[in-house]
Amino acid sequence: MALTPEIQMQFLFALRSHGVTDAKVLNAMEKIDRGPFIRGHFADRAYDDMPLPIACGQTISQPSVVGLMTQALNVSPRDKVLEVGTGSGYQAAVLSQLARRVYTVDRHPRLVREARVIFDGLDITNITALTADGSHGLPDQAPFDRILVTAAAEDPPGPLLAQLKIGGIMVVPVGQSDAVQHLIRVTRSETGFDYNELRPVRFVPLVEGVSREE
Ligand code: SAH
Repeated sequence: MALTPEIQMQFLFALRSHGVTDAKVLNAMEKIDRGPFIRGHFADRAYDDMPLPIACGQTISQPSVVGLMTQALNVSPRDKVLEVGTGSGYQAAVLSQLARRVYTVDRHPRLVREARVIFDGLDITNITALTADGSHGLPDQAPFDRILVTAAAEDPPGPLLAQLKIGGIMVVPVGQSDAVQHLIRVTRSETGFDYNELRPVRFVPLVEGVSREE
């Protein structure tokens, strides 16, 4: 389905009406067409404000949730960002418009491969997508200015907290996968971590280990 100016306007309107008001975030989401990140059956729903199924039994998040999470992360142009849960690659692509560099990891090699192809096709050069268990973070590239987790953990994973710079922000859905989860913003200060509960959400669970499925 082609992204016409009218559909684009409706897409941005839905974001604003859900509280995505940060001009930089709206601008980034205006630049990244969600269409290429969704294939098959659901391609014609790409511009609806709803989560949709992707490969490996995973989901691409609802655009307004992507917007709210990105907004809560308060990314600056010099930031090095880690995303845990590449999925379709859409959230990473949005972050790539706001950050200096984005590292994104997924436990499914297939999702990482497919996302890389889309990033190349869109000429996005500041994303590094890797297959890894993101619950351990990415020690080689740590510390990070910002960390975004797009799968639900029972608690903010310790290694991720440890890989956050002082002054850094992590946004993570916390809770049991089959119950209500809450989006939490963690800010690291000189002396510890401040926790802020943002809103109820529903994400697929953070699963330990890398998938062996191809
Ligand atoms: N941000 C994605 C949506 C993520 S869905 C998008 O924009 O489309 C959640 C993703 O987290 C899934 O792809 C799942 O495979 C991944 N995931 C779950 N547990 C993980 C882990 N321990 N490490 C890395 N990725 C994980």
